[in-house]
Amino acid sequence: MTTGTTFLGLGAMGSALATATLDGGAPAVVWNRNPDRARALAERGPTVAATVEEAIAGDGPIVVCLFDHRSVHDVLDPVAAGLAGRTVINLTTTTPRESRELAGWAADRGITYLDGAIMAVPQMIGRPGSAIFYSGSAAAFERHRPLLDRWGGSVYFGPDAGMASLNDMAMLVGMYAMFAGFLHGAAMLATDGVPATEFAERQAPFLAAMAGQLAGFAATVDAKDYAGAGQQSLEFTEAALAALLRTSADQGVDAGVLRPIHDNVRRQIAAGLGGLGTARIFEELRTTR
Ligand code: NDP
Repeated sequence: MTTGTTFLGLGAMGSALATATLDGGAPAVVWNRNPDRARALAERGPTVAATVEEAIAGDGPIVVCLFDHRSVHDVLDPVAAGLAGRTVINLTTTTPRESRELAGWAADRGITYLDGAIMAVPQMIGRPGSAIFYSGSAAAFERHRPLLDRWGGSVYFGPDAGMASLNDMAMLVGMYAMFAGFLHGAAMLATDGVPATEFAERQAPFLAAMAGQLAGFAATVDAKDYAGAGQQSLEFTEAALAALLRTSADQGVDAGVLRPIHDNVRRQIAAGLGGLGTARIFEELRTTR
């Protein structure tokens, strides 16, 4: 019988997780659909399994890091009977609904399930700055904490298996909106010959400074205190966004990144709310569910 942590999926991320585990001196069993990727890890001394059945034959936790929700079912469904009584730690990116579906699937089969969402790129795994969100089985989170902590800071969001993913998705909304905003700005400057690299040197510290505003917005949202003193009004923000849209048009740049925010603010002004604070964008977003 093979012992140690089982890793199913050795793409860029699965390989990084397995490598950090092996480099920490812990035994591991690895499997990948394309066996070449398992062979690439061989010099670090894992047990390389030829099949999923062989990979799960031991008694350690089973770490799953595959492409998506579908591929998790593709790999686990055929061996579900052999997983009863075992712990599956699924680090594949899934939506909250998919994570909850997998938790229910596992519960029906006597499998302990811990869902994870990785807040890092493969090169960061096992290094400072890497964090992984978890939710699902509290017992599994506690029991396997030494393993989880090899990969990065471990944050537990409670027994609802969807909460790690929901927090992940919320974090990524901010990230993608920021990236898109940066690329929009870079496109505006490119029209007049400014290289994106030059812009990035100015944009990065500015965005870092602006991130300091988030706590204030959050306090306003949680208190629903949009009429409180010292807030930038929706009317002020509308004028600023309108200037950005006009400049984008003048530079020949599509303003699709910003237009929905402008529309959100204008709807509120039309409803007579223009004197309230800009953080009220939050309330308008929630009404479109
Ligand atoms: P890769 O594309 O490098 O690897 C995908 C893995 O999934 C491979 O091992 C692939 O096997 C396997 N796979 C895909 N479909 C199937 C299937 N139907 N049956 C069996 N195996 C399958 O992706 P990553 O390793 O980068 O990402 C893995 C997960 O980690 C994803 O959910 C991703 O969102 C998440 N993640 C990745 C981050 C990153 O920066 N890379 C950051 C945060 C999360 P094969 O080699 O045979 O094709």
